[in-house]
Order: sequence, then structure tokens, then C-alpha cells
Amino acid sequence: MYIEADSVRKKKEIKLGAWVRSNRPVFARRDLNFLLRTLFDKDSGYALFDEVLDFRALGYLEKLKELYIEGLPLAYILGKEEFFGLIFLLKRGVFIPRCDTEVVVERALELIHREEIYYVLDLCCGTGCISIAIDKTKEKRLKIFASDISQKALQSSSVNKRSHKSSVNFIQSNLLSAFKDRIFDLIVSNPPYIEENYFKDNHFLRYEPQEALRAGEDGLSFIKNIISDARLILKKNGFLVIEMGFAQKDSIERVLCDYEDWQVIEWFRDYSGNWRGVILKLG
Ligand code: GLN
Repeated sequence: MYIEADSVRKKKEIKLGAWVRSNRPVFARRDLNFLLRTLFDKDSGYALFDEVLDFRALGYLEKLKELYIEGLPLAYILGKEEFFGLIFLLKRGVFIPRCDTEVVVERALELIHREEIYYVLDLCCGTGCISIAIDKTKEKRLKIFASDISQKALQSSSVNKRSHKSSVNFIQSNLLSAFKDRIFDLIVSNPPYIEENYFKDNHFLRYEPQEALRAGEDGLSFIKNIISDARLILKKNGFLVIEMGFAQKDSIERVLCDYEDWQVIEWFRDYSGNWRGVILKLG
């Protein structure tokens, strides 16, 4: 949204800076920053504090604030989210990328840099943020596939594929069902992993698609499935990088006791210092 100088109503003029100052407490800092950068299409919204808001712009900001106060995630209000320095478009019904997941991309890129990795699969891809971020940052030629069971997720991932001129192949699949005949060198996944109790207590999650979050009583139904079945489509010495809930390390360790062929390479934390995932190698 651009604010035209000639559409300014001189009488009741309010500057963006004044609006921001009085509404700062309403927004999380990161959200306010992203909102300003998105709406005013500048690298830093703060450069525009002297802009005078016309009635239309002010009305728009106030409406947006109302939705935000009601609890609607900013990503759905704006129709986009930033992840790994890239913008991903999304609609309601599609899982919102989290900065917690950026560490999964970092681990995948380290492996790609270090190991013989060419065929990559991103399972439960949502907006496509993991696979497209890998594709945009990679240093070598990869063949990247990404899948999701949700049609809405695939619609948004194909929009993102176009906007990032990415060559990721997006495929609809119920976990591994579409990949029975393929072999990958690396599988990355941010599957649903929210346990029932956490879901009940965290109301902000109700705006997002349940099927992208809920994973049974213990939150492990998808992770267990992937740990079991990824072995069938990974080459020997291939890797699985999987995101998990911050309190799931011990229970995943117990799950792994049943599988002699998985070797734990590293448990890793997110930027907030919480356990966030594991790198496994197929022996
Ligand atoms: N990390 C997300 C959250 O806590 C959940 C992600 C997921 O289930 N894959 O909201």
C-alpha cells in the first residue's frame, strides 16, 4: 500500500510515526516491524514515520489492528510470512512458517554442503518454505521434491514456487505414499507434532489447519511414522532431519531404541534455545 501525498486530508492528519507510537503495545515487536515493511513496501518501515496517513490508510491500519487483537495471526491478515529471509505467500488453511523451523533449513544446508546429497524430499511442506529456502540457498545441483497431503498447502506452495522461480517439485502425498519408488539422500520434515493437551491450552493455534498441527495424544503419531517409513526410501547413509516439539526429545529417543539402523547425528535447538529437532543417519 502506497500513501499518495495528494490524497492527504490536511485537517485531521496523523503521521505513521504517531500511529505506530500509540499502537506499539498492541503488536509483538517482530509483527509490527513486518507489518510496516509489508504495507509500506520499504526495507524498513521506520524510514516512513513522517508519512501522513490518509483516511483510507488509517482505516485499513485500524481494521488490521482489530483483527490482530482478536487473535488472527498477522500472517493471515497480510497473506504472507517471512522465513529464512524470503517471503512466503499463504492463505488461511495453510500452516504458517515459524522462525523455529529455520534451524532445520540450516542443518539441511550443512549436510548438503558436506555430504553426497542430490535427491532431497521435504515431507509435510506447507507453504514450501523449507524446500524453497534450500533451493534458493544451495550451492550445488539438487533434485528437490516436496509434498503435503493438503490441497490448500499445495496451492500456496505452487504460488511460492513461481514467486521464487524455484525448481522444487511439489506433489500431493499422504506422508510417503507417493514416493514408494524413489530413493532420497536427504529427507527433511516439519510434521504435525502438537499433543492434545498443548493444543487445548494454546488458543492461538485454533486459526491454523488442525491437520498441520495435531499429532495424537503424545504428539508423536507422525514422527513415529516417519522414523519407521523414511528408512524405506532413503539410501544407505542417507539423512533424516526432523523437527519436533521442545519437550519431545526423551520420547523420541525411546522411539529410536526400536530401530537399530538409525544413528543419531545431532539433537539441535532453535534460536530460543529449545530442543527443536534431530538429525538421523541411516546405517
Ligand atoms: N512449532 C509449531 C508450534 O508450536 C508446530 C509445528 C508443527 O506441529 N509442525 O506452533
